Amino acid sequence: MKTNYHTHSTWCDGKDSPEDMVRAALEKGFSALGFTSHALLPLADPWTLQPHTAAPYADEIRALAEKYGDRIRILCGVEADFITGRVRSDRSVYAHLGLDYLIGSIHEVVAPDGVRVPVDHKPELLSEGIARAFGGDAQAFVRAYFAAEREMAATCDFDVIGHPDIIRKFNGVLRYFDESADWYNEELRRTADAFAASGKIVEVNTGGIARGWIDDAYPSPAFRDLLRERGVRFILSSDAHSAAALDCAFDRFAAAEDYVDSPRPSHRKS
Ligand SMILES: [Zn+2]
Ligand SMILES: [Zn+2]
Repeated sequence: MKTNYHTHSTWCDGKDSPEDMVRAALEKGFSALGFTSHALLPLADPWTLQPHTAAPYADEIRALAEKYGDRIRILCGVEADFITGRVRSDRSVYAHLGLDYLIGSIHEVVAPDGVRVPVDHKPELLSEGIARAFGGDAQAFVRAYFAAEREMAATCDFDVIGHPDIIRKFNGVLRYFDESADWYNEELRRTADAFAASGKIVEVNTGGIARGWIDDAYPSPAFRDLLRERGVRFILSSDAHSAAALDCAFDRFAAAEDYVDSPRPSHRKS
């Protein structure tokens, strides 16, 4: 069964309209497609749903679910940002939208002085952020990132943990930390423990491959081993920002894990 439950569109920073994404999914033989626009309610930011566009977005996805319902299962969710102390990826924040599910993701790490450092936007913004907000201490930045991942998993009510080690995205060009270092693997173990305790599904996200920054999915094979050992369930997702990328590298990762086929295997509605 071919499914993707992490899909962007022109409602946030995606290139194609929701209907174009549905048509591409049909052409590629998908049986289900879940939309997850970026959202950090109650804040407004240009790359995410705005407080006033969230309801129209959900309405449009539901209309598509109705229109194409005999050919493909369409779900409406959001990729709900967690920003430490400011924004929570929690079902209660989005309850008024009646979503089918939530992905919880981190794209910004809050430095000790309160500055928000973008993790995966541009390499130069990341290196500037580490230099200015973390005094050049990349290890402190990486530790703060994983501490936020653990806090999100432990304290927010959502379904799928999005791209849990996206801090690797620019490590190929910036080489700002050593993925084989003991301290890094200790962070992975602690985070795997927290994810397992949360009971949430973790996605295997191929989105970095489509963008050309990394030739691997998130989480890394080593991180996936730790998660699998702890009984964490996986879901395969492309994090597509265009119709062409809807099944990016799915052929490569389809057999990598024993995936669940729904972001809320035992539920229907939030
Ligand atoms: Zn994301
Ligand atoms: Zn995404």
